[in-house]
Amino acid sequence: MIVKEYQAVATTDKFKQAGDKAEGQMAFYLRRAFGTDPNVHVFNNLRLEHDGEVGQIDHLIVHRGGMIIVESKSVTSAVRINDREEWSRQWQGRWQGMASPVLQAQRQADFLRGYLNAHKEGLLNKMIFGKQPGFRGFLIDVLVAISDQGVIEAKGDRPEVRKADQIPDQVKELLREHASLSNVFSLRFDKRAMNEGFNLAPDELTRLIAFLRNKHVEAGRAETVRAEPAAVPQAQQQQVPAAPAPPVAPSVRRDFKCRHCQGQRLQVQFGKSYYFKCLDCEGNTAIHLTCTQCGAAARTRKQGKEFFAECPGGHSERYFVNP
Ligand SMILES: [Zn+2]
Ligand SMILES: [Zn+2]
Repeated sequence: MIVKEYQAVATTDKFKQAGDKAEGQMAFYLRRAFGTDPNVHVFNNLRLEHDGEVGQIDHLIVHRGGMIIVESKSVTSAVRINDREEWSRQWQGRWQGMASPVLQAQRQADFLRGYLNAHKEGLLNKMIFGKQPGFRGFLIDVLVAISDQGVIEAKGDRPEVRKADQIPDQVKELLREHASLSNVFSLRFDKRAMNEGFNLAPDELTRLIAFLRNKHVEAGRAETVRAEPAAVPQAQQQQVPAAPAPPVAPSVRRDFKCRHCQGQRLQVQFGKSYYFKCLDCEGNTAIHLTCTQCGAAARTRKQGKEFFAECPGGHSERYFVNP
């Protein structure tokens, strides 16, 4: 399935245009190979921000057994890789050095693993005895796609470097490998299978897909929490003793998010108490309300599709309307 479509960015930069063309071509082949496969999820130009760092992933393929990052490189003539892992490409008849796209993709893999680990509590189910697993053992492979009319000049086979039209077959091979490595009954006791490899549960995969979709940030649009100043009328401020500021400001309260996938398409439901059900990943998130006027803990009152936060001090404020 294609979770996130490829979108070309309008640019006049010739070099950037060539890069976009290569990415568009790769996205086309991935759609042809996996567009109708319900077990394989494809993201095109996924951009994530974390701790001031940016992860820009050309193509990401996700399934229960692992992930594959595909880095697209525009090489319409030839690319050369020498014994020291140095890359160069022919550009308008001349050889030019280039940064290794394999290392580039590996850095994206490290970034992605760190990013997912920072959110492991919401994404991965706890094991018995409450142990919280992380993504350290989740397989992330990298591939480099060059334009399909390009030529690869390298000694020996480089399975991680392929022309765009050959990448889907390489992806399929890795998907099979992931599935066997992450199978505990696997007889293939190679190094990776010993250290790594686990399958996501179906609900974990659903949350992971929704999480990545929700965390994509377009370039130039910073992910900022819209912090409106808490508008508390002057008169009421004076009635309230100088208590510490309420921990949750009104603007934040309208910014409810699924704790699993960070999605904002939520619905209030009632079980033992009121909670949010996520429409993206079906995960549950507890509702903790603080009165915006006095800072006291508040409870939910339901009225049709509307939900009100009500505190012991008698304040009432609508905080959510169900879709
Ligand atoms: Zn969710
Ligand atoms: Zn109150």
